[in-house]
Amino acid sequence: MGAHPEGNATMSADAEVMPCPRCQAVVVRQVAASPVPGRWVMRSCQTCWYAWRSTEPDTATRAGSYPESFRLDPREITAAPRMV
Ligand SMILES: [Zn+2]
Repeated sequence: MGAHPEGNATMSADAEVMPCPRCQAVVVRQVAASPVPGRWVMRSCQTCWYAWRSTEPDTATRAGSYPESFRLDPREITAAPRMV
């Protein structure tokens, strides 16, 4: 409905720009929200499909704290073997 199909009232809770913890891509979408408004949101990276809930620890939600051994280089994703 309207000119902005991806916009809705819940997006205001996702206004803070936070890159993907795993690949640091900035195209991150909110994919779910707590049934109790304001408790948490779930975000998903549109580059590597990592998904996380806002209430998870920094090691799962913040690029600077995400374990180095699990980080992904977006340039390597396009060359990775397809598993599914
Ligand atoms: Zn990512």
